[in-house]
Amino acid sequence: MAEELYGLVGYPIKHSYSPLMHNAVFKTLGIQGEYRLFEIFLPELDNFIKSLDKNNIKGLNVTLPYKEKVLNFLDLSRSDENAVRIGAVNTIVKSENKLIGYNTDILGFSRHIKEYISLKDKRVAVLGAGGAARAVCYVLLQEGVKSISIFDIRREKSDSLVSLMENLFPSSSINRADSIDDLAVSEKDILINATPVGLKKEDPLIIDSMYLHSDLFVYDLIYNPNRTKLLEEAERIGCKVSNGLGMLIYQAAFSFLYFTGIDESVETIIKIMNEAITKELGNV
Ligand code: NDP
Repeated sequence: MAEELYGLVGYPIKHSYSPLMHNAVFKTLGIQGEYRLFEIFLPELDNFIKSLDKNNIKGLNVTLPYKEKVLNFLDLSRSDENAVRIGAVNTIVKSENKLIGYNTDILGFSRHIKEYISLKDKRVAVLGAGGAARAVCYVLLQEGVKSISIFDIRREKSDSLVSLMENLFPSSSINRADSIDDLAVSEKDILINATPVGLKKEDPLIIDSMYLHSDLFVYDLIYNPNRTKLLEEAERIGCKVSNGLGMLIYQAAFSFLYFTGIDESVETIIKIMNEAITKELGNV
């Protein structure tokens, strides 16, 4: 029998550290398994998901731009309640010929951002309204932020995220910004980048530095490069900043436990993943 496979599906994903982290845990704990990258274009997604069995794939992480689309393939009655609620899944596990979905971005983002700042009563600006932003806004509202403004270049996406969150948190204050200017970052405590802008070296600075101020905490979900232009500029201005590396490690550790069902503490998995990443980045 071939080795059990796991992996990341999305496009583009060449920048991903997920194979490094998951394969380090397989190796360290002596578990048979391999984690690969599956860079799949949208027209191939359907076939790919339907061929998981044939390819001996037992579990998948899902990244941009498919976190919302993959819900169509899942048994929603057995999937994680939070993932179904926000309509975004980043972890799929095969169980008795059904696909079960989870959202460990929620767990990862929640744990990581709280290491930097208390979210209670904060005013937050969010760039992007895709799959990751759904997890981000869900955590922010659960933790009692005062308000959220969201800007996405696709107005229909921010509209749908705003109405989803209004339904889940009826007394929340969340609005769509029609432009970066309309985000009113000068009045915010936290700015979060949940767009892919900054992944590529040639990407522009997503928001003009005139909007940034030194009391702002700037969190960029991107972790590779480890400092996007946004974070570089924010640091220069004196903002406290973080990239999304911690979130990545935490979400991966929770996913690993869902994939394998092993009786191990998440802290052990986080430690192994953290060491693998530190070793790799130290060698760059
Ligand atoms: P999606 O593609 O689902 O959503 C991103 C959204 O941002 C899209 O609606 C996109 O529009 C929009 N967008 C693109 N450019 C801009 C812009 N200049 N201003 C405003 N909105 C814009 O991606 P995900 O939500 O899955 O992921 C977003 C980012 O977060 C990625 O970089 C991903 O790598 C990162 N991420 C990191 C994680 C971590 O653990 N650190 C976990 C999850 C995600 P359009 O579709 O038209 O491009």
